[in-house]
Amino acid sequence: MKRSRKFSPATLALAALVALAGCGDTQPKAINYGRDECAECKMTLVNQRYGAELISAKGKVFKFDDLNCLLAFEKKNAAGPAPQAYVVDCNRPNQFLSSDQAILLQHDGLRTPMGSRFAAFASETELETARTQLGGAGKTLRWPDLLRPPSAEKTAACTTCCSAEKKP
Ligand SMILES: [Zn+2]
Repeated sequence: MKRSRKFSPATLALAALVALAGCGDTQPKAINYGRDECAECKMTLVNQRYGAELISAKGKVFKFDDLNCLLAFEKKNAAGPAPQAYVVDCNRPNQFLSSDQAILLQHDGLRTPMGSRFAAFASETELETARTQLGGAGKTLRWPDLLRPPSAEKTAACTTCCSAEKKP
């Protein structure tokens, strides 16, 4: 009887999985509106002008209905390597802009699913057109403007809450 070598199908499957994970596929996945739920607030994604995704270093995709949900989620899961972030292009349903491409307009006239009032655009021109349609004003931001340095944020929060919470 021939001795089988030690590579069982399970081992091979595992090796394949590891290899796949190692590929670092960080492409956004299309949002299935009406079916996918927000990883943060658990609401179903319905508005195709809005949405965002985080893709972890291991390639896990998290979908969000609004930018504030993504930011809240990221804040809670800040440990480990930074995930890739994508936002839905407001003018092109279900197309994504990477976080460094997207230009964001925050405007009171924007009715976003969770009230962040953020919309993402591919260019300044498109953003300005939208701003005009909304009657002007509003704020233009880039992705780094949304992410405050974690240390500064912690100290700000600590002045009010940590003394009560932390009892070593
Ligand atoms: Zn949400």
